[in-house]
Amino acid sequence: MSERTSHAAHPDLQADCGSCFGLCCVALPFSRSSDFPVNKSAGTPCGNLQEDFRCGIHERLRDKGYSGCTVFDCFGAGQKVSQVTFEGVSWREEPDSARAMYEVFPVVRQLQELLKYTAQALDLPSARPAHRDLRRAYEQIDTLTRDTAQTLLAVDVDALRGEVNPLLLRASELARAAVPGRKKNHRGANLIGAKLSGAKLRGSSMRGALLIAADLSDADLRDADLIGADMRDTNLCGADLRGALFLTQPQLNAARGDARTKVPQPLKRPSHWAA
Ligand code: SF4
Repeated sequence: MSERTSHAAHPDLQADCGSCFGLCCVALPFSRSSDFPVNKSAGTPCGNLQEDFRCGIHERLRDKGYSGCTVFDCFGAGQKVSQVTFEGVSWREEPDSARAMYEVFPVVRQLQELLKYTAQALDLPSARPAHRDLRRAYEQIDTLTRDTAQTLLAVDVDALRGEVNPLLLRASELARAAVPGRKKNHRGANLIGAKLSGAKLRGSSMRGALLIAADLSDADLRDADLIGADMRDTNLCGADLRGALFLTQPQLNAARGDARTKVPQPLKRPSHWAA
């Protein structure tokens, strides 16, 4: 990848549903809940999946009770498993390979998520002292994602995550050290339902924090590290998230926001947010 372009915006790390065999809609299970109107077991195609592997209710997912689908992101795993691991032969064309495809998909999804975080760290100019190690980790994981199904099924993802996490933490510390002011540490904090409207959290660590239904409206979250934070139903109306570290599209999609919420590039404002 070029030094001048955004690593995190690389097409390999974005879902390309047109090149995927609808793997998230087949391989993964879901249960009847506030996120899904019905039960579906792993390996069973969703009833809304069309012959062309497109979703038949894509524009009406929330109205139909499938909000769970709108907060999912494969980080590019779908097209990689479909086109690289299984060389463009779908589970419909080759039913004998279906099971392996469904098992490989969640593994590659986790690897792609790691790649995404690593790419985001590579986009941080102030984390430059960590870039050499991050680049090496990126190349190692990317090479792994292009290996055979057999190799992928044997990957110890937790061990790999344990190797990459210290690099991401170092990048976070370097980047946040460059931010002026005192930074708060809410790493792993239970902030479910917390009243944090207007809070000054610039450059803070919110790593793995539970922010479910927390009120972060009008909060200053610029340059805050939000890796792994649970942001389901978090109120981000008017919040400033520019420069937030390791924030992902699924986290934003799971939260609530409005037209005033400032979203970091290259993430997109979810279409279901208030105007
Ligand atoms: S509702 Fe659509 S997006 Fe959700 S699992 Fe079914 S086919 Fe996929």
